Amino acid sequence: MKGFYEITPKEQGHFRIGSKMGVFMDLFVGKEHALLFDTGYGFGNLKEEVRSLTNLPLYIVNSHGHVDHTCGNFQFEETVYIHEQDMEMCRVHTGEQMRKGAVANARNMKDEHLGVFGDILPNDFQEEQYLKGGAGNLAPVKEGDSFDLGGVTLTVYEMKGHTPGSIGLLWEEEKTLMVGDAMNPFLWLFMPEALTLDDYRRTLVKIWSMNFSYFYMSHSLEREKKETMVDYMETARDLDYEQGVSFDSPLAAGLDARICTRKGYGVQDMGKPGFASIVISKGHF
Ligand SMILES: [Zn+2]
Repeated sequence: MKGFYEITPKEQGHFRIGSKMGVFMDLFVGKEHALLFDTGYGFGNLKEEVRSLTNLPLYIVNSHGHVDHTCGNFQFEETVYIHEQDMEMCRVHTGEQMRKGAVANARNMKDEHLGVFGDILPNDFQEEQYLKGGAGNLAPVKEGDSFDLGGVTLTVYEMKGHTPGSIGLLWEEEKTLMVGDAMNPFLWLFMPEALTLDDYRRTLVKIWSMNFSYFYMSHSLEREKKETMVDYMETARDLDYEQGVSFDSPLAAGLDARICTRKGYGVQDMGKPGFASIVISKGHF
């Protein structure tokens, strides 16, 4: 099991926990409590990793209900907080069918962007137990709820768009915002559960008005400056579906999803500074 997750210490009291699936979780450790933001796919023993860093009582919060953020919930007996609007979707995404798909992907990874190929499951992965894992002990959170860990205060903000119940956590002391998938250089708005482009635009305006200096996203390791948001805001403002490039993925089958890149950038520029895009289908205008 050791080695499945990679832990990167960030600011004092903050660790990023990454895995080969390219999704990051965040552990915050205060004086009295700890908080885990997202649980990833949960293929490895995440609980053991968390407990190697802290023995404090643990809050668990899901940024949204998607499979790659919630399937590790089952490893914990603690309450898992999630926005009410994503609760039902979380139950579907942590159900047996979605887990089977996730396991199949992990056995046959072909991700050129991540540089990951082949079977990435840990040697002692217990498939039966995993498939029956379920959603965990879900309870609702809403905007304004706050988690006081003792010197680390994390406040919930609603950031709908990518999903109806996407939330972020503002780390008040560090003026650092955790946005999950709510904001991203490769923002997915094409799935049926996503809201409209206008909803996403309103969320960007709301986030811009908030008092923070840095943010972290779920699918990249490094901290971004608030100003980076301008790339995403311009992309959302100028989006032209007709100019978009077809998004070729089994996840988008039949949805006519297109990758709409920021003006002056193409899909080949993905990963370059300044690149931003939104993957969107017709039902989201
Ligand atoms: Zn997502």
